[in-house]
Amino acid sequence: MTRDLDSVPENIIEVDRRASADRSDGMIGWDWDGKMQFRASAPGSRWYANAAHTLDPAPAYGHDIDVVIDAYRRVRAAFPMADPQSPCFYLVPYEFASRTNAYSHATSLPEPDDWPEEAAPPWTGVIGLCAKRIPPMPGRTRYLVAHEYGHIAEEWIKETLLGHHRMREDQRLMDDYAVMRGLDDADFDRGATPGRWHRSIDEVFACDFRIAVCGIEPDYWPHPGFAHPQRHPDVIDWWADIVAKNDALR
Ligand SMILES: [Zn+2]
Repeated sequence: MTRDLDSVPENIIEVDRRASADRSDGMIGWDWDGKMQFRASAPGSRWYANAAHTLDPAPAYGHDIDVVIDAYRRVRAAFPMADPQSPCFYLVPYEFASRTNAYSHATSLPEPDDWPEEAAPPWTGVIGLCAKRIPPMPGRTRYLVAHEYGHIAEEWIKETLLGHHRMREDQRLMDDYAVMRGLDDADFDRGATPGRWHRSIDEVFACDFRIAVCGIEPDYWPHPGFAHPQRHPDVIDWWADIVAKNDALR
């Protein structure tokens, strides 16, 4: 299949595999210890995302951009977010040294002069999908596009749909979400660590979004010990209400 380059959304960016000293816009560069790194900025901005990701420089296979675009269009149709919060996807041509599959950040943007003092800083979503030693299966690509988008949706839901202050009330949504799912504090973790990723409430949230809102790869439920959203009516109802709130903004 020949891809029509005009059909690539401007927020899906294939990162050049050559390292550059100028890392201002999603380039690969080097740190002082000689490690290859990727650090994204918001497109068109010189504002760096908050974390650099060390790369494994061995040759690797990136995600198929046509699969990324198709999944992105499905996810965005199900749950649109406005700019600048709507995320940008970087297709990184190397594997992360951390061996994770991808990352997402809600990245603060410079505040305009007239920005209200009480308001949380403006922000944008940045997502990186890394290459792998073996070509990623299309289902994995679809899963990652929807899952990482779900992490950015968490920030959007807090601020835009629920009116939470993203900084001061950072945990409130996840507190309420755990209660809705019938979980006690001992049942889940906050934040993901190796071997306990599946217990992270934010990761459960992002996979619930993927399945309950986007209907993407529902057979893949990587959270043993937690009910699949399609077998948890409260989860389905919660997301239906959120989607209705989001649709009302259109
Ligand atoms: Zn995640």
